[in-house]
Amino acid sequence: MLRTLLTLGLCISAGWFLAAAVTADDISARARKLHFSSIVVDTHDDTTQRFLDGKFDIGARNSSGSIDIPRMREGGLDAIFFSVWIPSKIAGSEAVQRATTQIEAVREQVRTHPKDLVLCTTAVQVRTARKQGKIAALMGVEGGHMINSNLEVLRKFAALGVRYMTLTHSGNDEWADSSTDKPAHNGLTDFGKDVVREMNRLGVMVDISHVSDKTFYDALEVSQAPLIDFHSSCRAICDARRNMTDQMMKDLAAKGGVVQINYHVSFLSQEFLDTEAGIPRSTNRSPRKCRSAVETMKAAK
Ligand SMILES: [Zn+2]
Repeated sequence: MLRTLLTLGLCISAGWFLAAAVTADDISARARKLHFSSIVVDTHDDTTQRFLDGKFDIGARNSSGSIDIPRMREGGLDAIFFSVWIPSKIAGSEAVQRATTQIEAVREQVRTHPKDLVLCTTAVQVRTARKQGKIAALMGVEGGHMINSNLEVLRKFAALGVRYMTLTHSGNDEWADSSTDKPAHNGLTDFGKDVVREMNRLGVMVDISHVSDKTFYDALEVSQAPLIDFHSSCRAICDARRNMTDQMMKDLAAKGGVVQINYHVSFLSQEFLDTEAGIPRSTNRSPRKCRSAVETMKAAK
């Protein structure tokens, strides 16, 4: 399914150059046709946080946020990875418990909307969901700290339907360095390498968004499956630490991996990044954060 997305991007790019003699409307019509004939996957969605307050109804059109079933239908979104996330500073059994609560919240949304959503854990299931006119709901855990350095927890998450895990969030795990923390492990520890091997065995994709460059290369060496970068961008364009160098992208691609571009402006614009760096912290929206929607919700509380 991810290959489908990649193909979609390549087709749009190729079409752009070939269509220099046609109008923008022609291109839009072709792009629209391509979009709605493809399996479109959102690989990182933070709406899970909204499930926790008990007031949000994903089945109704909402005036805030970007995701609900009516708009997913209109936008032609076929599959969505709901992100399970808590801050890196929350560790231990509390991290496991809170992650489990979010996983259950996603599963409950699927139970509540059986005509629209179906829980999927394989590419075949995603294709079947599309044929049945349903939106495939998948899950990713954003931060290895949520397994509490315990492979049994990883197995439990996988059994509940989680199909990717980001090795770190913005802080280091006990077994992996983040790109936005002080290096503590020189990449992955021996246990961290075991985590990657176990993810391979379970069929849980290894997401290297957020990790340090050394963690990326350690994971690239250990993993038997292609790595995926679910939400980063290009460091040559915007020097955010979370973005990838050209060499990292080439090395990732050489082993079959894929980069999903993060469209938040703080990962695309060097000008924005530089301007933000000059603003006092109290009014600064940190470029390290990817979850502007969550920040907005927190600020509203
Ligand atoms: Zn993130």
